Amino acid sequence: MDHIIPVIQVDATQNNSAVRLASGRFQRWRRMIVTPLILLFVLSPWLTFKGAPLLWMDLPHRELHVFGLVFWPDDYLMLTWLAMAAAFGLFAVATFSGRLWCGFACPQTIWSMMFIWVEEKTQGSRQKRLKELKLPWYKRRLLPLFLKHSLWMLIACVTGFTFVAFFETGEQLWLDITHANVSLSVLFWLCFFSIMTYLNGGWLREQVCLHMCPYSRFQSVMLDKKSLKVTYQTERGEPRRNEGDCIDCSLCVQVCPVGIDIRQGLQYACIDCAACIDVCDDVMEKVNKPTGLIQFAYEGQATAESIGMTTGDAPAASELKAVQSQKHAIFTLLKGRQKLWGYAILALLSAAAFTLQVWFSEDLDAHLSRDRGQMYLYNGEGQLANRYQLKLHNKSREAATYRIHVQNPELMLTTPSSVYMSSREVVYVRVEVQCAAPCPLDGTQEVALLVERADHEGDHATDSVLLSSRFFAPRL
Ligand code: SF4
Ligand code: SF4
Repeated sequence: MDHIIPVIQVDATQNNSAVRLASGRFQRWRRMIVTPLILLFVLSPWLTFKGAPLLWMDLPHRELHVFGLVFWPDDYLMLTWLAMAAAFGLFAVATFSGRLWCGFACPQTIWSMMFIWVEEKTQGSRQKRLKELKLPWYKRRLLPLFLKHSLWMLIACVTGFTFVAFFETGEQLWLDITHANVSLSVLFWLCFFSIMTYLNGGWLREQVCLHMCPYSRFQSVMLDKKSLKVTYQTERGEPRRNEGDCIDCSLCVQVCPVGIDIRQGLQYACIDCAACIDVCDDVMEKVNKPTGLIQFAYEGQATAESIGMTTGDAPAASELKAVQSQKHAIFTLLKGRQKLWGYAILALLSAAAFTLQVWFSEDLDAHLSRDRGQMYLYNGEGQLANRYQLKLHNKSREAATYRIHVQNPELMLTTPSSVYMSSREVVYVRVEVQCAAPCPLDGTQEVALLVERADHEGDHATDSVLLSSRFFAPRL
């Protein structure tokens, strides 16, 4: 199979016995992106809005709470639009710049980076850790090792707690745990999510990206000739240590969380985290050479300056020229990219469809179906009648009384015409509609039922629903 960008397969586990922590502008950007995401993840089961946690899957009531919105199983179409908007948004980002999602926002990367940070802070630098790995276990420093695993377990337990709290609410789960009132199933999921986080972040790390995540396999089909990827400038860097700018310090390999050497060419394993860019820019500054030996670039791009992605000391004319060049670069990056525009437009359309559906969703959900037992009957008063089942769902946050009216002048209700429902309640009402005596109806005709809130009678369309079905009468 041809690749738009040539891909070199390498053993991604090589040189990865210990990852060095990188620092630099892209790492700062990552922190700025992930800090609010982590806070949102951890605090969502605790913070309440409109009487419910920000994120809460209320299984007993079959409700999904998302930032004050409530969804029920019959809202699957609405949620499909949301899922499509997220998927097309991800495709657009992948087309624009490869695995930017993986490198900067994917939970697997975020948690792996957190675990690497703990490793570096407790056990010291990469060299120290590698040196220690060669010693027999009884000669290693056990306190930092214990501290590292304790902190890893702490992060894993907070993560496991948060996952389960999405189903229980943070407050309820905390009360259950502190009062030793946790059911076996909840205990199982708490342990499961905690252990999986510990294994993923501490031990598996890049193996999840390489062998378990399907996204790394199919993301190359979204790339085009202008997709930005982390790229080593071979012409500038080679031959290493001699005329080339690369001094072969191997720092770019040491910081790589997936353990690859970007100097070997583009590889599917690369998650575009830009750690190698940061560390190499640092090296270039120290040896007084222009930054950007490793940079975000697209296929056939001559220099990084043309897309404004380097920091540094590269030759630049005036500031005005630099601004113009950046504007030109953005224009170049967006021009003629049908795939990118297609994904972006589909993402926007899906998001618009979701927004419109949420905006126009009604507080009352009602369905009318005929009683399948018989076409018509003569009731206790000896009058011609038809029976129906009415399903009502009060989706509002308040209790309400709903009134049922038959719209056809020759028909009337014989069953109670009002139903009291508490908030979020679903009720099934048996409805009998009787024909006035003497019944003028001949054969089948439409019957219309209006269901409306008692306190807003006729006021507001969102508080009333018009339903229709068939009324059967014998042929005259
Ligand atoms: S960090 Fe830069 S200079 Fe050092 S080996 Fe990698 S590419 Fe070469
Ligand atoms: S090669 Fe560079 S950008 Fe790619 S995963 Fe490794 S460190 Fe991140």
